[in-house]
Amino acid sequence: MSFEPVIGLEVHVHMKTASKMFCGCAVHYGGEPNHQVCPVCLALPGALPVPNREAIALAVRAGLAVGGEVHSRSVFARKNYFYPDLPKGYQISQFEEPVITGGGVEIEVDGEVRRIPLTRIHMEEDAGKSVHGEEEREDESHMDLNRAGTPLLEIVSEPELRSAAEASAYLRALRRILRYIDVSDADMEKGQLRCDVNLSLRPTGSDVLGTRTEVKNLNSFRYVEAAIEAEIQRQTGVLEEGGEIIQATMQFDPERRTTSVMRVKENADDYRYFPDPDLVPLALDAARIAEVRAALPELPAEKRARFEVEHGLSEYDARLLVATRPLADFFEAVTRAHGDAKTVANWIGRDVRGALKERERDLEETALTAPALSALLKLVDSGRVTPRSAREVLGVLMDEGGDPESLVGERGLEAVSDTGALEAAVDEVLAAHPDDVERFRAGEAKVLNFLMGQVMRRTGGKASPGLVREILARRLEG
Ligand code: ADP
Ligand code: MG
Ligand code: ZN
Repeated sequence: MSFEPVIGLEVHVHMKTASKMFCGCAVHYGGEPNHQVCPVCLALPGALPVPNREAIALAVRAGLAVGGEVHSRSVFARKNYFYPDLPKGYQISQFEEPVITGGGVEIEVDGEVRRIPLTRIHMEEDAGKSVHGEEEREDESHMDLNRAGTPLLEIVSEPELRSAAEASAYLRALRRILRYIDVSDADMEKGQLRCDVNLSLRPTGSDVLGTRTEVKNLNSFRYVEAAIEAEIQRQTGVLEEGGEIIQATMQFDPERRTTSVMRVKENADDYRYFPDPDLVPLALDAARIAEVRAALPELPAEKRARFEVEHGLSEYDARLLVATRPLADFFEAVTRAHGDAKTVANWIGRDVRGALKERERDLEETALTAPALSALLKLVDSGRVTPRSAREVLGVLMDEGGDPESLVGERGLEAVSDTGALEAAVDEVLAAHPDDVERFRAGEAKVLNFLMGQVMRRTGGKASPGLVREILARRLEG
């Protein structure tokens, strides 16, 4: 029997606020342990929580961005459990009445576009962090409560994902939306985006859900994918041997790439949720929601559609260019300065992205500016620099910045458009490759490219390609 995986993700993201969810402490990464704390987030007796207005606005913003329903009434609830990093003995979350329900995230896998529906989005607070066996204190555990109370969004998907590739595409699409709308930096290395994977199998073709397990707290795309593959394999093994899947919380071992049972969930819900008596229900009136909606920036899908219409780009190019908001903004700034969107799209899509990949950097981390790239492309347009030399200058602009025109001068990259010099180079190449000349004349048109390449090489890549092609054609005909 063959099985179909069914996957639902619970994603936790840190919201990008200056202060914590229910107190005025700063949200700050890498600070000295236990220095961003106060009576509220330390859970001292008598301290009372006050919801963070900005966090609420960001939650609404996220809800609107995914097309969810924003509720005019939602309720903060206590989720009770015991853990050393949880000073109150409960986490303030939302349960029966979350701020957002519904909505969806569009993904594309192997050319197929699907919308993954969301169940809900709610606000909650993060816990602190246990630090085990640091340096010489190998046998000690310590608690850092700086993170306790950091505003979180929990985004829960419907069980509609069918593979590791889809789960990964979903996470990337979700992260991109959250970054576009400035709700979160969603930096997985900083723990700003963590993911729980819920997974079950069912006989292919069935529409009944099987028993699920949950792999907790995955903090990289690679781990999410690997954990899904591992859990599919484990569950398949159990079912093929006639066994039964037991609902459990799993642990992923990244080194061995296996999942194992951490604890069995006998009673799915032992959190004893109840409305937090210290917090009145959250009321959001239509005016407040409208205010957030009005401030919503353009989303990736809207931007892509606009790029196709306004700049005449192919869907493929438009998709590449909206990958991140800084990249999309950069494209538009260069286009404004340069004038030809298609040329700019080609250079950014191919050369800029290639150079970024080589450097393993984001655009914002380089010295490249929109006016500089526009100026460089104009030098290419006018034939003063060959595309090949321009790529060299592009590298310098990224690493050090500078003025393209001066860089071309300093590096002697001015295109050779001295016809006499080029004719001499062409003649040398033709004399050195008589066989290829023969083949060209016998009808093998693509030999021309080889000969072009030879001339370009002889001129150190600085010959203006148009001119070389012209001279070659003339000589070969003659
Ligand atoms: P809990 O807090 O108990 O884990 P949630 O409602 O927060 O429950 O999350 C449940 C997650 O599990 C959702 O993403 C949902 O889509 C997914 N899910 C529910 N049932 C199944 C199932 N049978 N197989 C796979 N995923 C499931
Ligand atoms: Mg869960
Ligand atoms: Zn505090």
